[in-house]
Amino acid sequence: MEEIEDSIADLRTTYRSRKTRSVAWRKNQLRGLIKLVQDNEQKIAKALYHDLGKHPAEVYRDEIGIVKKSANHALSCLEKWMAPKKSRLPLLFFPASAEVLSEPLGVVLIFASWNFPITLALDPLIGAIAAGNTVLLKPSELAPECASVLQEIIPIYLDCNAIKVINGGADVGEKLLQQKWDKIFFTGSARVGRIVMSAAAKHLTPVTLELGGKCPAVIDTLSSLSDIKVMVKRIVGGKWAACNGQICIGVDYVLVEKKFASTLIDSLKRTIKKFFGESPKDSKSISRIINKNHFDRLSKLLKDPHVAASIVHGGSSDEKKMFIEPTILLNPPLDSEIMTEEIFGPLLPIITLNNIQESIEFINSRPKPLVIYAFTKDKTFNRQILSETSSGSLLFNDTLAQYTSDNLPFGGVGQSGFGRYHGKYSFDNFSHEKAVMQRTFFLEMQPRYPPWNDFKMSFFRFAYDFDYFNLLLLLLGLKK
Ligand code: NAD
Repeated sequence: MEEIEDSIADLRTTYRSRKTRSVAWRKNQLRGLIKLVQDNEQKIAKALYHDLGKHPAEVYRDEIGIVKKSANHALSCLEKWMAPKKSRLPLLFFPASAEVLSEPLGVVLIFASWNFPITLALDPLIGAIAAGNTVLLKPSELAPECASVLQEIIPIYLDCNAIKVINGGADVGEKLLQQKWDKIFFTGSARVGRIVMSAAAKHLTPVTLELGGKCPAVIDTLSSLSDIKVMVKRIVGGKWAACNGQICIGVDYVLVEKKFASTLIDSLKRTIKKFFGESPKDSKSISRIINKNHFDRLSKLLKDPHVAASIVHGGSSDEKKMFIEPTILLNPPLDSEIMTEEIFGPLLPIITLNNIQESIEFINSRPKPLVIYAFTKDKTFNRQILSETSSGSLLFNDTLAQYTSDNLPFGGVGQSGFGRYHGKYSFDNFSHEKAVMQRTFFLEMQPRYPPWNDFKMSFFRFAYDFDYFNLLLLLLGLKK
């Protein structure tokens, strides 16, 4: 507890020194972060292989590359993001000027999850630094090698008075939550998300919760063989080629018309073989399960006899290697745990429908997903999914790609979380947008003040209907 309190005291002193507000400091830290991932690429890849069996190519795509891209983007946009934004004012307060000024929140706490232990720690950190905060980062104890690499290298590359790493499990998390923060950014489960929110309520601390849930892939019947091939590659890629399904935005289950199910399953099986060979566990292109708890949790999902009976591909596992084979299930019971809980692993249930339109009701009768993937060439169905469902993100005809954009907000809605980040959205997430209005003592609009009369009433009507810009247009005859 003493280490935590001392760290927070240090972070607060640094924040109060105002050094983290300068553009130079923020840019230096972002450059430091880029150098950190560049110099330590091998060390990070080794740690991710140790914790999750990730291939270096997957590590670069999902962790190192993402962090470098994000930090470079923040570096190039920083001054634009920090610049005050001019605002228009009602005529009532003429003359005056107004702007929105982004200021840092203060000392922020970031909790990371284990499935992308580097990205989920460093990507929010980029936003927090860009916005000028001091930060305490708690990596996930479930990816211990990555957590210890982060603790070792962050102080070497970043300002250790402003950015600190504390490692530990739930006990450390709980102690951190007893402290007062200016913002808590949490990536993890809804269960711990609730704990975070209750703790934050005590100090009225703003919170971002990046949670999970069940992300469906809606698959419209496709007739062209080449379209089917592309679609299936994208589904297999989005399910098993990113941390072997242990990913919040992975495809949790598929909704498809009955008549198309067998074509889809055959194509999925062929593509799995093409990507991971006859023996996926020896392929080195697929991650392992993080630990025994998660291995047992996933194995238990398959032990339900009705679920086991629905396996149409895979189903084998190797506890010694912490590996579960890519597994496809056809119509497991909708009330079984595999269909009521987030899977977060390599199991893919396929649920058949008579008509793909039924997918909308299926999705809407469950908690709002973090992402919906929809594969369709039908424009009407595309519009229907767009307007009749709600989710954190919606991606047509691909998987995972939305995550990599610095210009799209990433975050959930409803039970998949709230708050958003990536690119400018990260900067905003860790900033307070301060409204600033400047007036002088010149020119007083007397009708503002009592005693009231009809003229003043008319004046208010006019003054609220027009801001300076509209008045200018009116005076120039460009507006009626
Ligand atoms: P978790 O909630 O168990 O842990 C998340 C963090 O909270 C870890 O740092 C952990 O040490 C800490 N923690 C655990 N118990 C705590 C407690 N009692 N008090 C305080 N802190 C505590 O989640 P997880 O197992 O790391 O991640 C799995 C979940 O996270 C899945 O639901 C997944 O969908 C979600 N997730 C979401 C995203 C996203 O970006 N939306 C990304 C990755 C994972």
